[in-house]
Amino acid sequence: MAWGGGWGGGGGGGWGGGGSHPGAAGNGLPFGGIPQELMNGVNKILSDEPVHPDSDIRFTQLPNEHDRHRLTLPQLVSGYPGLLAVGSLLVIAISVLLQAGPKLTEVAINDGMVPGHRSLTVITVCAALYLVIAFVSVLLQRIQVDVTGRLASRIMHDLRVRVFTHFQRLSLDFFTDEKAGVLMSRMTSDIENLQQLLQDGISTFALQGLTMIIITIVLFATNVVLAAWTILLIVPVLFVLSVWFHVSSEKGYLRSRDGIANVLSDLSESLYGIRVVTANNRQPRNIVNHRHVVGAYRDANLYTGRVNAIYGPATIMIGILGQALLLGIGGDMVLHHTLSLGALVGFFLYLNRFFGPIQLLVQQYNLLQQGRSSIIKLRELLETAPSVTETVDSTILPPLEGRITFEHVTFGYDPARPVLHDVNLEIQPGESVAFVGPTGAGKSTMAKLVTRFYDPSSGRVLLDGVDASSVTLHSLRSQLGVVPQEAFLFAGSIRTNLQFGRAGVTDADVEEAIDVVGLRDLIDRLPNGIDTIVHERGQTLSAGERQLLALARAFLARPRVLVLDEATSSLDLRSETVIERALDRLLEGRTAILIAHRLTTAQRADRIVVIDNGGIVEMGSPAELLRRGGVYAGMYEAWLQSGGRDATR
Ligand code: ATP
Repeated sequence: MAWGGGWGGGGGGGWGGGGSHPGAAGNGLPFGGIPQELMNGVNKILSDEPVHPDSDIRFTQLPNEHDRHRLTLPQLVSGYPGLLAVGSLLVIAISVLLQAGPKLTEVAINDGMVPGHRSLTVITVCAALYLVIAFVSVLLQRIQVDVTGRLASRIMHDLRVRVFTHFQRLSLDFFTDEKAGVLMSRMTSDIENLQQLLQDGISTFALQGLTMIIITIVLFATNVVLAAWTILLIVPVLFVLSVWFHVSSEKGYLRSRDGIANVLSDLSESLYGIRVVTANNRQPRNIVNHRHVVGAYRDANLYTGRVNAIYGPATIMIGILGQALLLGIGGDMVLHHTLSLGALVGFFLYLNRFFGPIQLLVQQYNLLQQGRSSIIKLRELLETAPSVTETVDSTILPPLEGRITFEHVTFGYDPARPVLHDVNLEIQPGESVAFVGPTGAGKSTMAKLVTRFYDPSSGRVLLDGVDASSVTLHSLRSQLGVVPQEAFLFAGSIRTNLQFGRAGVTDADVEEAIDVVGLRDLIDRLPNGIDTIVHERGQTLSAGERQLLALARAFLARPRVLVLDEATSSLDLRSETVIERALDRLLEGRTAILIAHRLTTAQRADRIVVIDNGGIVEMGSPAELLRRGGVYAGMYEAWLQSGGRDATR
């Protein structure tokens, strides 16, 4: 809006004024100005643009007040009391107004049409009132649809943000155990599933429920005997049928939620692993597998379809049988002059309106059940607590010198099967330590405990003597830099990917990092230099280039402690030399843990820690260990014999 106004105002004298462009004029180029029609079009588009104010995001590891509440449908809806109150009042007004028609018909027949009571005035007044009421109720319905639509959009928006925020809070073990596709389906299909329910399901449900109550009162007011028969004949049967539907459909819809989650998860895995699938000719096997998963989803849907196919028609049949019986009873009363014809017609008009809502309620109940199953799944997700937590007592970790201490640390991803056993180690500030050892020995696991991706099962990890589990995760991780085994890049420009690690990184910092890491050649080759867009996960770059970018990112983050997990594994000899120089700069004055598979990397460290079978078997400077002739010396010997590369692979 603000833009539209600003540009529109300037349309005559500025942009759209047809004057020459100063820059262009300076270069001697003629500038015809922006044509008025084009400017008008631009202004129109801009005036329609929604204004999104900057978000005020304050992320904390601790769940906020809102998140502490159990996710239920009433809790979701009650977040907007104003809209809810207006919506409810409108629903009440509409359901009352909608019932005036049959009453007016009854009055028009009894007081204006039957012999002895003929009156054109009564008929005209009733017809006019009917028209006015119909018009008002249509108007109110329009407002009500708008209000509930707004309520639904806001609730869906909040829920999406709430689930996403919860994902950001959860610990790594959750994402390792849960399939990505299942989590995607919670964010997409489960939340989408609530859309229709929130948009018109709840209001229709309330409207029809209220209508039934009003009509029941009107039926009793019209004729107590007929009304009593209606209730006695229909309500008990409907109640039993609805209880059965509730139980059966909930079971079916929960199966269906799991079904779609499995479909999406199989799909995302197949897409993510498409290169491996193609290389191994796994396409037919994949199709068979996907057919099983899709088949299970289809079966769940068939089951809920069958349950609906019984419930819907059964309620219609109950209604028809009830009406037939009531016609007999009512007709007999008219013959015996205990009921007027007008009253019988009015009663039947109301009776139709009694059964109409039942059909709609059945549909809405179905929607409600689907929504409930989504809410149950989302609630399970939101109630999953992060395993690595902070408390209100967590302190801010002061600026680190860089001492890291492992104190009797035991840890297992599955607590019953420890992968690290009673590890004790002290790394001095500014020291670089290489972890070496066979694959699966526990090197990466040790590093993950320093960054608090996991907490030890027993023992402590201390940073400058402070227990890592007693400080806030933000203050801890802002002082640690991690270059993971698989360098991950986000879709976006190289610049934004490099600026990722720290706020306030300047362009000059970025240029420096590029030179330090030796990325200049790559950047010069790219079409848009540093602003070239890399695709998701950096698939358009080579593995080595991605690692160089990850190193530059770590350099820019300027952490006190650096963890490099096999950061040199994908580099050719030339790049390795570049990287080694970069590492010297990167490690200057920093504590570093190098998870080294190449002994060239290990040899550069101040100290080598040999890890095997979840424990430290040897430790010392490279020269010391070689002199000692132990495990590391053996590895080094083997490395030399194999040509000096890739010794521990
Ligand atoms: P490599 O050199 O191959 O990277 P590593 O020494 O770094 O090996 P770790 O990754 O620390 O080994 O793994 C130690 C043990 O823990 C291995 O037996 C591994 O199978 C197991 N492990 C690793 N990550 C997980 C996980 N997320 N869940 C369960 N077990 C795990």
